[in-house]
Amino acid sequence: YLAKEGRSGVELYQPDKDRNSPERLNLLGDLRRAIDSRELRLHFQPKVSLGTGAVQGVEALLRWRHPVHGMIPPSEFVPLAEQSYLMRPLTAYVIEAALEQAARWWHTGLQVQISVNISARDLLDSALPEQLEVGLAASGLPPGAIQLEVTERILTGDQAYTQETIKALAALGVPLALDDFGTGYSSLIRLQRLAVSEVKIDASFVRRIAESEDDYRIVRSIVDLVRSLGLRSVAEGVESDEVAMRLDEMGCDMGQGWLFGRPMPAADATVWLREHTGAGPGIEYGYQPEVS
Ligand code: C2E
Ligand code: MG
Ligand code: MG
Ligand code: MG
Repeated sequence: YLAKEGRSGVELYQPDKDRNSPERLNLLGDLRRAIDSRELRLHFQPKVSLGTGAVQGVEALLRWRHPVHGMIPPSEFVPLAEQSYLMRPLTAYVIEAALEQAARWWHTGLQVQISVNISARDLLDSALPEQLEVGLAASGLPPGAIQLEVTERILTGDQAYTQETIKALAALGVPLALDDFGTGYSSLIRLQRLAVSEVKIDASFVRRIAESEDDYRIVRSIVDLVRSLGLRSVAEGVESDEVAMRLDEMGCDMGQGWLFGRPMPAADATVWLREHTGAGPGIEYGYQPEVS
């Protein structure tokens, strides 16, 4: 196996790109075991209101510490799961773990919404709304304690099948967010027809709005579009005060990114949330909104 030096300096293992390579098949088997053995962990990254700094929720992001290969990023193993029979058990595990954490938080006074990433394919699974309904009831949580994030790709596929699941989720009251917006080819009309409450603007556009006039204009027009449809906008990958400030100026509702907080293990996220929610001032960043 070849380990590659990752962006964050930790060793990132990248399986062979060949679909049927023995490495890949081994890793699939490992992932199967990882799901059962809870080798996978959820980390949580805060999402804050750009105007006030108030915490609006957290996103659950999967982490896999492989016993031999070390940290394997979700960008490697989620696509692997998507191309196999493992997507269903993986998503079921993530939802279960997220509801478990939400229950812990809600029952200790931290009423924070957890957003869970699901694959477009998961929306073909009629068992998904059922799992959520049963899980929410068992943990005594309101449906808004959880949100599902699905990428824009669902807009380009055949919508007839996914519509059933989306309807069932809406009936249940579980909100849906559109992730990585701007990277696909969705049209305005399709966005309008889809029952989503939040649109997350992809980090690749957000990152350079302070330097690139083009990126600034793209993000601003997405924010305008989202608002005109009565939805909330979230900017992903907010790393600097200046970017946060410009997003707030253009009317973007929320931000997520290293500026506010990195994805953290549950224990650290609990400490972070205790410090930044409730009676507290919310998160403060360099830019202080004017109080009128
Ligand atoms: P995503 O849902 O768009 O998640 C946002 C990604 O941006 C996360 O990467 C997060 O760690 C990263 N990020 C957040 N703030 C910043 C920032 O300020 N700068 C930079 N450079 N990056 C930032 P991560 O955790 O590696 O996840 C990558 C993707 O893997 C996610 O993209 C999501 O599509 C997928 N994923 C993660 N967890 C799950 C899961 O439980 N289920 C499914 N189906 N997919 C997941
Ligand atoms: Mg996401
Ligand atoms: Mg995203
Ligand atoms: Mg992304």
